[in-house]
Amino acid sequence: MKLTITSKLPSAGTSIFTVMSALATEHNAVNLGQGFPDFSMNEELMRLVNEAMHKGFNQYTPMQGYIPLREVLAEKVESLYQTIIDPGSQITITPGGTYAIYTALTTVLQPGDEVIIFEPAYDSYIPNVEINGAVPVLISLQFPGYKIDWIEVKRKITPKTRMIMLNSPHNPTGAVLSEEDIVQLRSVVKDTDIIILSDEVYEHLIFDNVPHLSILRYPDLLERSFVCFSFGKVYHCTGWKLGYCISSSYLMKEFRKVHQFNCFSCHSPSQVALSTFLKNKDSYLSLASFMQEKRDYFLKLMGQTRFGMLDSKGSYFICATYDKISDEKDSDLAIRITKELGVATIPVSAFYKTGTDNKVIRFCFAKKKETLEAAVQKLVNL
Ligand code: PMP
Ligand code: GLN
Repeated sequence: MKLTITSKLPSAGTSIFTVMSALATEHNAVNLGQGFPDFSMNEELMRLVNEAMHKGFNQYTPMQGYIPLREVLAEKVESLYQTIIDPGSQITITPGGTYAIYTALTTVLQPGDEVIIFEPAYDSYIPNVEINGAVPVLISLQFPGYKIDWIEVKRKITPKTRMIMLNSPHNPTGAVLSEEDIVQLRSVVKDTDIIILSDEVYEHLIFDNVPHLSILRYPDLLERSFVCFSFGKVYHCTGWKLGYCISSSYLMKEFRKVHQFNCFSCHSPSQVALSTFLKNKDSYLSLASFMQEKRDYFLKLMGQTRFGMLDSKGSYFICATYDKISDEKDSDLAIRITKELGVATIPVSAFYKTGTDNKVIRFCFAKKKETLEAAVQKLVNL
C-alpha cells in the first residue's frame, strides 16, 4: 500500500526567501533579497554568550524564559512605552518572532474563525492561520502608500472575526501605524472579543524621528493583544531565532499551555547574555539612526538607477517600482536580475495570497555600504 498523508498546507510551496537566497547563491549575486544583515553583531554580546556557557548556563531555563531577562524586558517596556508589565505572568521568551506569532494564533483560533490580515503580508501569517483551520480574511493595503483602509476593515468584520493581525514597521513595505490607525483600531475592536496580534519585530527600526506606536503603549488594547518581538532584528543575529511575546496575564496563561508542549524553553546562554546586554539601552536606542543612515545611503545610490523608490518609514526594507525599466511580472524581473545582473531582491507579489502584482520589488538595505554599492553598480545597467 502506498503511504499517503493529507497535507495540512496543500497550497504551500517553498518560501520566497529560500527561493531567492538559493538563486542568489547559485548565480553568485549580491543578496538584497532575504532580510538579514551582512555585518557582524556586537562583540560584547558574543562574549557574554560564551561566558554564560562557561559559567554553566547550559541546562533548561524556566519554560516562561530566564527570569532576569524577563525582568529587564519589563523595565525596557516601562521606559519606552510607559506601561507596567508583570514579567512573571505577561512575558514569554520564544524561539523567534515567527514562533511567537504561530503560538499566539494556535492559542486562540478555532476552526472556522476569521482572521483579518493585511496584504502584502509576511509569508508565515496565512499558513499559520490556515493550519489552525481558521480563515484568513484578506485586505489589501492601499498601494502605493500601503495605508490601512479602515472602512474596508469595518465592512469585513463579522461575528466570526476572532483576530486582527498588524505589523508595524511593516515587512515588506516599511509602512508604519499612525495615531489615526490606533484610533480606528480601538473603535473597531471596542465591545467585541476580537484579539489583536501585533508583530513588532522591527520595533526599533523606525526612521525620521517618528515614534513607534507599539500596542504596549495602550493598556486597554494590550488586554486583548499578543505583541511579538525578535532579538534577531535588534541585535543583528537573525540566526539566533530568539524572541518574545507580551500579552495580558489572561491570554499569556493560555499561550504558555501551547508553548510548554512545543519548544518548552529556549536557548539558555543567549538568554543569560541578553539579560545583561539589554541593560545597555544605547544598543537598541541607536538602531533607528544606524539603519536610517543605511536607508538614506541606499536611496541616494538608487537615484542613479531607473527604479522608482517608494517610501520606507521603518523595517530594513524599501520597495521600488520599475515602470521605466520593464513591464515584466515582478517575479520575472526579480529572477532575471538575479541571473543576469547578479542582484537578488524579493518580488512583492509573493506577499499576496493570489499574487497581486503591482510591479514592485523589495530591497533589504541592512547591509554593509560595500554591499549596497556593489548592488547598485549592477542595477544602473538596467
Ligand atoms: N515578522 C516579520 C514581519 C518578519 O520580517 C520577521 C523576520 N523574519 C519575523 C516576524 C520573524 O522573526 P524571527 O526570525 O525572530 O522568527
Ligand atoms: N524576515 C525575513 C524577510 O522578510 C526572512 C525570514 C525568512 O527567511 N523566513 O526577508
